[in-house]
Amino acid sequence: MTEPLAPQYNPSAIESALYAWWQERGLFSPDAGPGGPAATPYVIMMPPPNVTAALHMGHGLNNTVQDVLVRFERMRGRRALWLPGTDHAGIATQNVVERLLAKEGLTRFDVGREAFVERVWSYVHETGAAILEQLKAIGSSADWSRTYFTLDERLSRAVREAFVTLYEAGLVYRGHYIINWCPRCLTALSNEEAEKVETDGNIWHLRYPLADGSGHVTVATTRPETMLGDTAVAVHPADERYRHLVGRELRLPVVDRPIPIVGDEAVDPAFGSGAVKVTPAHDPADFEIGRRHDLPAIDVMTPEARISLAAPERFQGLDRFDARARVVAEFEAAGLLEKVEPHRHAVGHCYRCGTVVEPRLSDQWFVRMAPLARPALEAYTNGTLHFIPERRGDDYTQWLEGIRDWCISRQLWWGHRIPVWYCEADGCGRTRVSRTDLDACPACGGPARQDEDVLDTWFSSWLVPFSSLGWPDRTPDLATFYPGHTLVSAPEILFFWVARMIMSGLHFMGDVPYTHIYLHGTVRDTQHRKMSKSLGNGIDPLEVVERYGADALRYSLVSGMSVGTDVILDPNDLEGSFAAGRNFANKLWNAGRFILSNLAGPTRPLAGTPSAVHREELTLADRWILARCDATVREATEAYEKFRLNEAAGAVYRFLWSDLADWYIEQIKPRLYGDVPGGDVARAVATQTFDVALRLLHPVMPFITEALWRRFPGRPADASISVAPWPRPDARATDPQALADFELVQQVVGAIRGIRAEYGVQPGQTVRAFVSQNGGPPSRALERERGTIVRLAKLADLVLAEGTERVGGHAVLPDGTAVFVPLGDAIDVGRECARLGAEADRLAGLLASQAKKLGNEQFVSRAPAEVVTREREKLAAWTEQRDVLVRKRELLGCG
Ligand SMILES: [Zn+2]
Ligand SMILES: [Zn+2]
Repeated sequence: MTEPLAPQYNPSAIESALYAWWQERGLFSPDAGPGGPAATPYVIMMPPPNVTAALHMGHGLNNTVQDVLVRFERMRGRRALWLPGTDHAGIATQNVVERLLAKEGLTRFDVGREAFVERVWSYVHETGAAILEQLKAIGSSADWSRTYFTLDERLSRAVREAFVTLYEAGLVYRGHYIINWCPRCLTALSNEEAEKVETDGNIWHLRYPLADGSGHVTVATTRPETMLGDTAVAVHPADERYRHLVGRELRLPVVDRPIPIVGDEAVDPAFGSGAVKVTPAHDPADFEIGRRHDLPAIDVMTPEARISLAAPERFQGLDRFDARARVVAEFEAAGLLEKVEPHRHAVGHCYRCGTVVEPRLSDQWFVRMAPLARPALEAYTNGTLHFIPERRGDDYTQWLEGIRDWCISRQLWWGHRIPVWYCEADGCGRTRVSRTDLDACPACGGPARQDEDVLDTWFSSWLVPFSSLGWPDRTPDLATFYPGHTLVSAPEILFFWVARMIMSGLHFMGDVPYTHIYLHGTVRDTQHRKMSKSLGNGIDPLEVVERYGADALRYSLVSGMSVGTDVILDPNDLEGSFAAGRNFANKLWNAGRFILSNLAGPTRPLAGTPSAVHREELTLADRWILARCDATVREATEAYEKFRLNEAAGAVYRFLWSDLADWYIEQIKPRLYGDVPGGDVARAVATQTFDVALRLLHPVMPFITEALWRRFPGRPADASISVAPWPRPDARATDPQALADFELVQQVVGAIRGIRAEYGVQPGQTVRAFVSQNGGPPSRALERERGTIVRLAKLADLVLAEGTERVGGHAVLPDGTAVFVPLGDAIDVGRECARLGAEADRLAGLLASQAKKLGNEQFVSRAPAEVVTREREKLAAWTEQRDVLVRKRELLGCG
C-alpha cells in the first residue's frame, strides 16, 4: 500500500482491497479474554436482516449509523463488538418459497412438511446471507467471525431454553383466545403484526326482532357477516331503555336461531344504540362477554376466511366479503336494515402480505407480558435506558403500559418448532414441555406427538443480545460482551424487537441488553414517500457504491440526517443525491495528495522532544490552524457521543475543506516551497492537523481516510487508522487571539475577492487595496499577515490606511474594518460605467411598469392577496438592485 496515490480519486480502486486488508488483520474481531480497564467493551447488536433480504437504502442508513458509532468507539480504545447475524424470518421466508412452489403449480401441502422445510433450507443455503456480503461493500466493520443465524443449532437451543424456562415460571401458557389470523398466510399473528390501516367502511344498523314479535332491538356492526355466529345481544344492565328486556329472547334473522339478551357491564350505553351483538368466536370483547355468560362460541369461518359449515347452507363456502353483501341484502329484503352509515376506522392487516386480518378463536401459545413489562418500564423510569430522540421514550412507555399477552405460536413450517409434546395414549393425554426431543410420553411410555406449530420469529430475535453470545452457557463472550451499550434501529421495530429484547434481557440476564436506543429516521424520496420495492422509488446502495464509492454514500446519508429526522434522496437524481459526498471525497483526495507530496522535506515533531517546534516559531496561521483543529476535535467528539452524526461530519468537513485545504495549505506554500524559512514547522503543523482530521472523519468515510493516512511518511506498514487512537483535546492549542486575528485576515481577503468578482476584474490582474479601521490603521495582525493577504487576494500593493482615491469598490467587515479597492487601473471604468448604466436603465423600466401595475386599484383589489404580495416583493427587490447600481456608479465616478 505504499504505491503513489492515483491522481484521480477512484473509490473502486481502493475500497475492496482495504476492506480485505482490515479483515485479514482481524481488526473487527475483539478478544473476549481478560483485558485491562482501558479495554472496556462496547457492543452494538446489528438488527439481523432477513436471511433472504437484499440490501436496500434503509439497511444502508441503519448500518452506516452503526458502523460510524462502532468505529468511533473502537478508536477510543474500547473493545468494540458489532455483532452481525441473519434472521430466519418465518413468514417472510416461507412466503418466498411458497411463491416459488406456486410457479410449479404446487402448494406446501402438496410437498409435505419435511420436504418443504428442506426446500426452504436449500433456498437459504443458495441465496441466503447475500446481504452480509453487501454490508461489507458499504464498509461495515462488523465481526463476521461471530455471525449467527437465528435457526442455527446454538440459537435454537437458546430458544428452547427460553420457552421452557418461561413455561416453568408460568409465563408461557396455552390458551383458547381470539387472536389475529391471516387467512392468506394461514397463521396466527401477534397484535403488533396486525398493522392498523385507516380504511373506509360502513356501520350497518341491523334490527333483531324479539322472539314474541313484540318489537325489535337494533345493533350496529362494521362486519355484518359475523352475525352468522351471534349467540346473544348484550346491553348494560342499568340501561333504562333495555333493562326490562334482559333475559328475553330474540330471533336471530337470516340464521333463524333464538338468542338471549344478556346484561353486561362492559357494554357502553352511549355507544350506538346501546345494544351490541355478541359473536364470541370472532371478536375479543365478545369473547369475554361470552365467557361471563357462558354463551356458545360458533366459529362461522374456515381458516381461509370462507363461511364454514356452522352457518346456513346457502352461505357455506362464500368468501367473507361476499357473505357480507349477502347478509346485508337479506336484512334489507326482510325490512330489517335500519340504516347504513359510512365509517372510517382502523382495520388490522397482515404485516407480511397485507390481507385483512380476521379475529379468530383458536388454541395458541402466549407469553404473559405484564410481569416482563414491569421491570422494562422501571428501567426507563429509573434512568437506565436512554432514547434518542427522547420523545421515543413516551412510545415505549405507552406500549408497555397497555401491553397484552403475546401470541407466539404460528401455523407455519419454517421456524423453531414449539417444544411441547402431547401424549396420544388413551387415558393419559399429558402435555410435556421439554428441552430435549421426546419420542415417548415420560409418564406412560405411550406415543408422544410434538406440537405442529412453530414460534414467532421475534421469539428468537428477542434473545439475540445473549443467545448470539452463547447463552444459556456462561461463555467468555457472554461474560465480556453482555450487557451491550447501543442499539440502532428504525422506529418501526421498537415494539417488535427493541422493547422485547429489553424484557428478555432483564428476565434472563438480570440486566438490560443496552442503555442507549437510537431510533433514526426513514429514507424517503422527494415526495416524502418511504422508499420501497413496490413503489419502485428505491435506490440501490450498491449502485451508489459502484458509481461514487462507499464513502460518498455514507457521507451523503450521514450529513443528510439529524437526530430523529428522515433522510430525503431523489431516486431520479443519483448524481444530485450523492454529489455532496462525492465532491468532498474528491476534495479530500486532492488535498491529501498535495499535503503528502509536500511532506517529504525536513520536518520536526510538534512536541515531546528537545528538537520539537517551539511555540515562538509558530506563525499566526500555524497557531490558528492548531486552534481550529483543537476546536474541531472537541466539536466532533461531542457530536459523535451525542449521536449527532451530521454535526460531527459537518465539523470535520468545514475544517478539512475550508480551514485546511482552502486557507492553511494556501498560506504555507511559500514556506513549503522554500521561498521563506520555516518549512519544517509548516510541515509539522500540516502533518499533525491533517492526521487528526483524517482520524475524526474515519468513522464516516473509512476508506479514503485509511488510504491517505497509511501513506504518511514513516507510518508502519501494518498501522491502520481504524485502530489509531482518537484525537484528544489539547488545551495548549486553545488560542482565541489567533482565531480572531486570522479570521480578520480571511475576511479582508474575502472582501477583496468579492470586489474583484463584482467588478469583473480578470483573475490574472493585480489590484491595490486600502484597509483601515475607524479611519486609522488596522490591527497588527494584518500587518504581520501582509504577505498572505497580498498573495491570496492577488494584490499589487496593500495600504493599511484610508485611501484618498475615490474610484473603486468597497466593503465593510462586521467589526467595522473598511476595505477599498481602487479600480481605475484594473478595469476599463468607462466600459463598466456603460454596463452598469445599461443595467440601471433596464431596472428603471421594470420599476416604472411595476409601480404602474401596483398603482392600479383594480389589480390590487381583485388579485389574490399572495399575488399582490409577490408583486410588491418584486418591486422592493428591484428598487434595492437599482440603489446598489447607483452607488456602484458613484464609486466608479461614472458621469
Ligand atoms: Zn398474511
Ligand atoms: Zn402418556
